[in-house]
Amino acid sequence: MRYGSIINGRERNETHRDTLEVRSPYNQEKVAELALAKRSDLEDAVNNSFDTFHSTMKTMSAHRRADILRKTADLLEERVEDFARTIMKEAGKPIRFSRDEINRSIQVLRFASELAKNILGEVLPMDAAIGGENRMGLVKRKPLGVVGAITPFNFPLNLTLHKVAPAIAAGNTIVLKPAEKTPVSAYMLVKLFQEAGLPDGVLNLLMGTGEEVGEPLVTHEKVHKITFTGSLPVGRKIRESAGFKKVTLELGSNSPNIIFEDANIENAATSLVKGAFAFSGQVCISAQRIYVQKNIYDQFLENFVKQTKELKIGDPESEETDIGPMINEDEARRAKLWIDDAVEKGAKIETGGEQNGTVLSPTIMTNVDQNMKIIAEEVFAPIVSVIPFDSEEEVIKFSNDSIYGLQAGVFTKDIDRAMRVADQLEMGGVWVNEISTYRQDNHPYGGVKQSGIGKEGVKYAIEDMTEMKFIGIKLDS
Ligand code: NAD
Repeated sequence: MRYGSIINGRERNETHRDTLEVRSPYNQEKVAELALAKRSDLEDAVNNSFDTFHSTMKTMSAHRRADILRKTADLLEERVEDFARTIMKEAGKPIRFSRDEINRSIQVLRFASELAKNILGEVLPMDAAIGGENRMGLVKRKPLGVVGAITPFNFPLNLTLHKVAPAIAAGNTIVLKPAEKTPVSAYMLVKLFQEAGLPDGVLNLLMGTGEEVGEPLVTHEKVHKITFTGSLPVGRKIRESAGFKKVTLELGSNSPNIIFEDANIENAATSLVKGAFAFSGQVCISAQRIYVQKNIYDQFLENFVKQTKELKIGDPESEETDIGPMINEDEARRAKLWIDDAVEKGAKIETGGEQNGTVLSPTIMTNVDQNMKIIAEEVFAPIVSVIPFDSEEEVIKFSNDSIYGLQAGVFTKDIDRAMRVADQLEMGGVWVNEISTYRQDNHPYGGVKQSGIGKEGVKYAIEDMTEMKFIGIKLDS
């Protein structure tokens, strides 16, 4: 099947275009062929989004925006299996996890639908200022205009919706550039919005690579905001070239999870198996560093290794599969090299460490230190390290010793300690008695330090996709 860009409701899929193949990371079967966008398509898409903002979206009522989002959610609910199978094929995500992604995406659309009707302003007490008597001050929230959305491969539907749904709720138009590795679910989403009644030109889709399409989208002067989810190097580049635009960056991390001696060890181990290895660790908040208090370290490690060995590796299409492939062989090889590098520097492989094509077996490392890439950088692979610690002060220092700060997990029954530690961790979010990898779609989500700028979570993304406008009135008497 061949897919092209969609601009003003029409697909650009002519045969003369350059193409790019999308192949299953598991068995290399061809999933799709992309008819790539050219520079002129980008111009057309942005100009059309700009015009559609002024002609249509700026004046579209809140109830209509809410209706379209709700209808899209209803349609998606009818097609969970179609979408889940698409993500399973294009991303190699095991089918059960692919379904979870669709079910979250439905919620994102519902949250956005509800919030579209609740974008509130303020009335200011103008007489608080000397000379402000007989004046009225209103603060309204207005849409920005054209939002450029650039998305990664690992949650190709849900992370696209974390940008598209709030943008529509707020009354913006969007030019979407999905990851070229996983663009089919984004194409299906645009079709779904069309079916739900979204006017042409509100959501334009560009098929292409970061260099060809992403970069000129970031620098285009008619784009008012760039919302990007992806890697740190690309995020850094976007920040530098975006000029005056608003920018949201949702980047990577090396999330710590801390287990104190009073925690429920069995539960922590069970949830951390999922937290470290779900979608082969290709999750931005994947548990990468597990710090365990010394007196329970052996007990935890034994339990954790045992449960990890029970994971079923195989075909993402099978209902039984826990671990499928990584996104491509280069990434699996890169991750294997990082394991070898750590072993050379003295680390020990407790289980896993075998790479076969795109599949890397779930790997637990010990004896690690800060000089190893598997600790200092984002592994983005099924590799997790288990590290002993003595005291609360020490583990806070270990956890914060990172350029990243997205989410962390803290396991303890002591509420005072939980709150102390949560306060001191340099993170965008902290979970107590839950893994760093857990995320709901309605809380603020986004990193500090080099994990990002700005927040998603539908309500917070809407705030970032609107701007305040002040209207003051001088009354006659
Ligand atoms: P990536 O940075 O390689 O690509 C992301 C997107 O950026 C793709 O659409 C790509 O085509 C585009 N792109 C590439 N170069 C570009 C450029 N120069 N200008 C503009 N766009 C460009 O990331 P990926 O491999 O798809 O995803 C993995 C990364 O995403 C990991 O680092 C992960 O932590 C991060 N991530 C973060 C979050 C979060 O919410 N914080 C969520 C998921 C993934």
